[in-house]
Amino acid sequence: SVEPVSFTLNDLPLRDDLRGRSPYGAPQLDVPVVLNTNENPHAPSPRLARALADAVAATALGLNRYPDRDAVRLREGLASYLGHGLTGAHVWAANGSNEVLQQILQAFGGPGRTAMGFEPSYSMHPIISRGTGTGWVSVPRDADFRIDTDTALAAIAEHRPSVVFLTSPNNPTGTALDIADIARVAEAAPGVVVVDEAYAEFRRTGTPSALTLLADHPRLIVSRTMSKAFALAGARVGYLAAHPAVVDALQLVRLPYHLSAVTQTVALTALDHSDELLGAVDDLRAERDAAVAWLREHGFAVADSDANFVLFGEFEDRTEVWQAMLDQQVLIREVGPPGWLRVTVGTPEEMAAFRAALLRATGR
Ligand code: PMP
Repeated sequence: SVEPVSFTLNDLPLRDDLRGRSPYGAPQLDVPVVLNTNENPHAPSPRLARALADAVAATALGLNRYPDRDAVRLREGLASYLGHGLTGAHVWAANGSNEVLQQILQAFGGPGRTAMGFEPSYSMHPIISRGTGTGWVSVPRDADFRIDTDTALAAIAEHRPSVVFLTSPNNPTGTALDIADIARVAEAAPGVVVVDEAYAEFRRTGTPSALTLLADHPRLIVSRTMSKAFALAGARVGYLAAHPAVVDALQLVRLPYHLSAVTQTVALTALDHSDELLGAVDDLRAERDAAVAWLREHGFAVADSDANFVLFGEFEDRTEVWQAMLDQQVLIREVGPPGWLRVTVGTPEEMAAFRAALLRATGR
């Protein structure tokens, strides 16, 4: 090798605000039971894989050309999936909802501006904020992982954030927000309010989506993804619904042709097969409820979950439990408040492996 050995990133002219930071890094380990990144455990059927391959083959004949920069057909397809009277003009799509969130921060955050979140919550919200030079204000959730709306309104009045993140259902706790509380925050916030609904399809019945608030709140943004319920994490497709003016703002910061022709084709084909792709959601919700009940029966503390994962604890040394699970070939996630661990809901077989490993790991 030709490079000097002692050279590290500290020797680079890195931005001061990035020094000492850690990248996002859920371990990607090759073990039989992977329950650590809230993926859908069901792979596409061979029939759907064939449909995707055929669609990509047709697209490949035009790959000398740039893709549709505005992803018009995909946005229309996503709007009709969402319903609520939304059209393609209300929807924007990008490479995963992480990119959607980054574009929101590029347009509405940035140097001299602040984003606010209610933690514990999704770790990428502060990371993307800092990456775009946006200040980060963290407001703590209650002991039961709810957001106290009066605390939220006071923090908004004090910090006047340009962007407020409300994650519902929340990652890593699974907590869904009341629609009335979201409305109060949307009315009080001086900037945009982003409701990150990556796990929306997994909510228990009776908790409405923030999509129902869009018509009355032009600075409200609801972000969604095809990575979770849609079982399409590998394709990298996220999207949002908002007032068309928000979409106009995002066009100012998006890279031209950011969504490849292959990605657009795969996402459109997936939408055509949404019955199959979303077909496991009910089973995953039932498996989630069963996991919550089982964990409680065995004396664990468990956060109520409206998502496809469950946060449970409390452990004196959670790293030890996480490692003991991994030693039994079950990968879960060390995330959230100290003493807690998160498991993604997998297939019935994977959940059986999880339960057996946890009993052994904790000696219960
Ligand atoms: N929001 C939340 C709350 C998430 O948990 C995740 C994925 N872990 C994302 C957004 C991003 O997902 P993607 O970029 O795959 O759409």
